[in-house]
Amino acid sequence: MTWRFALVLEPAASDDLRDDFAPTFREIDPAAPALSVGELSTQRGDGIFESIGVVNGHAQEVVPHLERLAHSASLCDLPAPNLAQWRQAVAAAAAHCPPEGEGVIKLILSRGVEHGPAPTAWVTAAQAPDNSVPRERGVRVVTLDRGYAIDTPARAPWLLLGAKTLSYAVNMAAIREAKRRGADDAVFVTSDGFVLEAPTASLVLRVGGRFVTPAPNAGILHGTTQLSLFAHLEELGLETAYETIPVSALTEADAAWLLSSVRLAAPISAIDGAELAVDRALTASFNEYLLSPRD
Ligand code: PLP
Repeated sequence: MTWRFALVLEPAASDDLRDDFAPTFREIDPAAPALSVGELSTQRGDGIFESIGVVNGHAQEVVPHLERLAHSASLCDLPAPNLAQWRQAVAAAAAHCPPEGEGVIKLILSRGVEHGPAPTAWVTAAQAPDNSVPRERGVRVVTLDRGYAIDTPARAPWLLLGAKTLSYAVNMAAIREAKRRGADDAVFVTSDGFVLEAPTASLVLRVGGRFVTPAPNAGILHGTTQLSLFAHLEELGLETAYETIPVSALTEADAAWLLSSVRLAAPISAIDGAELAVDRALTASFNEYLLSPRD
């Protein structure tokens, strides 16, 4: 990925009501070293992030991403982000994304430097990778045990399972394992047999004309793309639902998709080696919607 822009923010208090946060921004060379060696984000993965899709210069679904950033901050006992400040930083980054085509803006809030006084925060902008192949041809997935039961997140909130933390080494390892097994991506399942999410995407199934996704209280991220797609489907008069989905339901699905902010809707073409029909026309209509300007 070629970085086009990077901005360091001096995090403002959440009750700072000023109109213009530009004095708290410092643009830096995105190709130059920028972090202290004492950074807890790099030493421990101790921080949170968001990835926002940008289409023709328009940052998509900024408010849901900022709300999720605030939710992650609260789960991780990080200071509440000043959402007006982050919104202005996103606007500054969007101005550096390709005016045509797709980009990606990342927001990072780290616990900061060890023994340091404050969190570290920065925003980057880059061109998005070409996702036309997964969007059109689909992805083959394998189910992988996430290693905890469906009730673990409620019993062990310190596992931070509903927060978008920087600790993605496990998620990346799952994708490598999926590739070793001849697939493109993974779908995590609980040790007691329920479906969760993919390492970097939400899962949506179409079962008998209804669109269902695992309930986000089960320690998964509530995807902004899934939320937006469900609102669109409901406007079209289609039925959507959040459910506790047993692994056996995967074989009963008529179709399934992985949804995320940058890859958008990738149809699932096989689960654990069993082929699944790809609804190309419906997937194209999903991606057409997801590529339209969305706030
Ligand atoms: N679940 C996980 C674990 C993710 O990392 C992501 C996105 O990065 C998602 C779901 C999908 O979220 P969104 O649609 O907001 O990108």
